[in-house]
Amino acid sequence: MNVLVTGGSGLVGRHLKDVEPNYFYVSSEYDLLNTYSIDSMFDKYSPDVVVHLAARVGGIVDNITNPVDYYEQNVLMNTNLVKKCHEYGINRLIVMGSSCSYPNVVDNYPMKEDSLFDGRPPSDNFSYAISKRALISHIDSYVKQYKKNWCYLIPCNLYGEHDKYEEHHSHFISALIKKIYESVDTINIWGTGKPLRQFMYAGDLAKVIQYMIKNNIVDNFNVAPNFNYSIEEMTKIGLKACGREDLKIVYDRTKPDGQYRKDIDSSKLLSVLKDFKFTSLEEGIRRVYDNFSKRHD
Ligand code: NAP
Repeated sequence: MNVLVTGGSGLVGRHLKDVEPNYFYVSSEYDLLNTYSIDSMFDKYSPDVVVHLAARVGGIVDNITNPVDYYEQNVLMNTNLVKKCHEYGINRLIVMGSSCSYPNVVDNYPMKEDSLFDGRPPSDNFSYAISKRALISHIDSYVKQYKKNWCYLIPCNLYGEHDKYEEHHSHFISALIKKIYESVDTINIWGTGKPLRQFMYAGDLAKVIQYMIKNNIVDNFNVAPNFNYSIEEMTKIGLKACGREDLKIVYDRTKPDGQYRKDIDSSKLLSVLKDFKFTSLEEGIRRVYDNFSKRHD
């Protein structure tokens, strides 16, 4: 069985390659904005299964500054890829949504899969969120109309050894790890420290994808650990994990907090992957910090 993974050079793609080196991994050498390039990719790899990870992904500042790029690149890439999967008769397709595309505020937390369309996504990453909702609707439509074995995963924010650390790209935990490494006496944290966030070690998502393919599971799942810490709690966990509790935390209240909470519920996933254990935040940060230090010392 040939499994082809798009976005193979990205955070999730590289973690998936660590757990499953026998899949085929491609990235922007096959530009998904160009349908001829997708033809040559499918002609070369003849996949039975496609895992679609490629996307324009970035931090909040980049989302606010370049909403057109987030909308156009993601909608075009996803639409091209999904249509080509139909044209080439791809039996199994797994694509990635994002917890960022859930409504800004709902009545009940953590959010379950069926509340995805229950309200407007946050304004900061609206274009990215809508492109993810469009991808999910596209998959649902093919399942309804053509009875495809296609599905999606909706992960929370991620971090891992293979993350990028440029300021415009990284999410909170990767930015925190870099700051802890570089700080001398104080560590500067954006906002009040009060918002709640879920973060998952990207290797955990890789294992979920691998499990679904191995066990032929076709269903749509949220994927997130059940802890939902405040930024302040995560900073303290990070300082402890990295042995840097000496650093004084300073909050920069001129910077925005963003959404207060956006936690999602993984109980549907865990009813199928019964023994699955998510990496604790402390253990995940320690692993990534050790790796970061080795590369930068
Ligand atoms: P990433 O590290 O930013 O990697 C993006 C990947 O997409 C790279 O391999 C990149 O290839 C490829 N790509 C970008 N534009 C392309 C194009 N036009 N044609 C072909 N390939 C292209 O992303 P990630 O963090 O691994 O995210 C993987 C998936 O998970 C995405 O769908 C993302 O939306 C979703 N997700 C991520 C997070 C998170 O916190 N990171 C959270 C929830 C969901 P090059 O390296 O060659 O440019």
